[in-house]
Amino acid sequence: MTTRSGDGEAATSAPCPAPSSLRRIDLAEARRLWHEASDEELMQLAQGVRARFHRPDHATYMVMRIINYTNVCVAQCDYCAFYVLPNQAGGYVLSRGEVFAKIDELLDVGGDLVGFNGGFNPKLPLDYYCDLFAAVRERYGDRVEFYALTIAEFLYLADHAGLTHAEAAARLRDSGVHWVTGGGSEILTEDFRKRHAKFKYTVREYFEAQRAIVDSGMKTTATMVIGFDETLDERLEHLQRTRDFQDECMRDGLDGLFSFLCWTYKPYGTAFGGREISPQEYWRHMALSRIFLDNVKHFRTSVLTQNEDAFRALDFGADDFDLPIEDEVTQKAGATIELDLDGLLAVPRSLGYTVEYRRAERPAALTA
Ligand code: SF4
Repeated sequence: MTTRSGDGEAATSAPCPAPSSLRRIDLAEARRLWHEASDEELMQLAQGVRARFHRPDHATYMVMRIINYTNVCVAQCDYCAFYVLPNQAGGYVLSRGEVFAKIDELLDVGGDLVGFNGGFNPKLPLDYYCDLFAAVRERYGDRVEFYALTIAEFLYLADHAGLTHAEAAARLRDSGVHWVTGGGSEILTEDFRKRHAKFKYTVREYFEAQRAIVDSGMKTTATMVIGFDETLDERLEHLQRTRDFQDECMRDGLDGLFSFLCWTYKPYGTAFGGREISPQEYWRHMALSRIFLDNVKHFRTSVLTQNEDAFRALDFGADDFDLPIEDEVTQKAGATIELDLDGLLAVPRSLGYTVEYRRAERPAALTA
């Protein structure tokens, strides 16, 4: 039986002995910090690690839209309110014109980042994706950047096409793709996946695919979702595996993971149900992740699932965020999207941060 990892209650008694902000912590120290450190102590340690990479009072952001190109999916994750099964009512695949219209709207509001995210749709072969991404690149050039798929979708497509991860990565790259994201990772333990997403891929396959993306010259990211029924040890295993992966990439002279984004589970309309965690628990987790995952430069806080509360995570180690204008997956599960972008940006400013727009970079290995 699993137990939730705690409500993020801060200890209020004696201060927790703090590790030096320059020293890497292990799992036992992470566990101790979670249980014993106050919010203030976690914040200070996280800010120490953040300061190795970023100015303390500075944050970056992007305006983006997730384009959910299909909601048909065979994976049947019990925490998902978005999918329908093949041949079920309500299934859709967006036309090329609908995709372009959504990108045009994004450009109109000053955004330039698209995330393509859909389901494991057995009727869409790899060629569908390669043609779509090539068409987007041809029409928009570098005016928009796009995250083409999550690692979860990438694995399904490679498998479906009978290709190795390296072969599938090369096909995407040669279609004009620069970025894939680590989305679909949720909690990276085999047990969590058996409980909630048994038709998805294994943790070992996830990291093999991540490595194939990195080796291909494309860029990729790390993600995590908290607030299901995962234990503290499962959260820490996820962070340990991610840190180990990044260490290996860096040892091999590769950039590895560009960023780490953590968001929170939305339970509404899902088979699993449950409740939302508190903003305080999210901030504490962001801080602990920043302290533990000391080899990833960018930490991204989730405005999509935490709204204005997300900005407080800048004090807990985050340095970057998206302002999303659409994501059907989380909206179906209860996320609400605020479209007053100036109003949202006023919040981090009121917390003392200067905010600067960040354009997604073309990977150096793919520079024309
Ligand atoms: S989370 Fe993704 S993979 Fe899982 S059922 Fe939903 S759309 Fe499919």
